[in-house]
Amino acid sequence: MIIAIKPGTTKEDIRAFIARMESQGVKVDYSEGASQTVLGLVGDTTGISEETLSAHHLVEKVIRVQEPYKRANRMFHPQDTRIDIPAADDSPRSIGGGQLGIIAGPCSVETREQIVAVARAVKQAGAGFLRGGAFKPRTSPYSFQGLGCEGLDLLLEAKKETGLPIVTELMAIHQLELFDEVDVIQIGARNMQNFTLLKELGCCRKPILLKRGYACTITELLMAAEYIMAGGNDKIILCERGIRSFDSFTRNVLDLAAIPALKKKSHLPVIVDPSHATGLAWMVPAMAKAALAAGADGLIIEVHNNPEAALCDGEQSITPDQFGTLMTVLRKYAALEEKTL
Ligand code: PEP
Ligand code: MN
Repeated sequence: MIIAIKPGTTKEDIRAFIARMESQGVKVDYSEGASQTVLGLVGDTTGISEETLSAHHLVEKVIRVQEPYKRANRMFHPQDTRIDIPAADDSPRSIGGGQLGIIAGPCSVETREQIVAVARAVKQAGAGFLRGGAFKPRTSPYSFQGLGCEGLDLLLEAKKETGLPIVTELMAIHQLELFDEVDVIQIGARNMQNFTLLKELGCCRKPILLKRGYACTITELLMAAEYIMAGGNDKIILCERGIRSFDSFTRNVLDLAAIPALKKKSHLPVIVDPSHATGLAWMVPAMAKAALAAGADGLIIEVHNNPEAALCDGEQSITPDQFGTLMTVLRKYAALEEKTL
């Protein structure tokens, strides 16, 4: 249930009103916009009468939210959410609300030389964040599983060398204690509906990059975000990374329509992963441009200094040079849309 408060109502009156609502057993989310203050009620609202609320002198309008996601719903928070990520080089990065976040780096951390070289190159080209998997969810148990803790240490070294905040995947909650210095926790497609994990992440205060499961609907993605938000962590970045369909020409099918759909239904930032979506390095620049043109708030792109020798996803990894060329074009797109890259 959404309550729009009459313009001109004092903060004190709103606070007292919220306290009264919370004494009836619901949680109230507060969102103050330029022209309107909106309260979102979550929990069991069945005992609350819409008529009585509408008659209250502070209330302009009461709307029942049909969708099952509440905190992730744009109705609860009409403005775009911007996620601010502190950075070691003292220039904080933001994703959402007109700020484009470009995350680049290898699929997996392989060696110190590899991760530091790629980190330097992507920073030079203008990436805002470094990606790299330490714990890898592989389809085969016999494939390279990532360097684990050693991979995390190498990522932290690359962070120290470049100042780039790091984004890396968490596969199980017991790994969280190793993620103290990780800036953004990635939850992979395969874990998007691991509800136990999502609930635990609600208690964590780090930004979460939540990837869409490859057989999950847009509503299911928003419900996964809702699980984390219900626990109290609202720093979520949604990621479209391609879904399964009948055509195997590309590794997945990039659902570009998910971008405007998610942005219409939710206030959370939406980024796109053209690498996993296509599986083909030569398609990455075209899909990266398409994503920004469709309104994405950023990109996560696999970049490897020697794709042919990559231990994971070499076929979809672009080189630092190709990434540099792409960034030049993306800067023009950003300027055209009056967004900051
Ligand atoms: C990844 O980003 O390396 C990855 C495994 O992605 P996804 O979860 O989208 O498959
Ligand atoms: Mn990968």
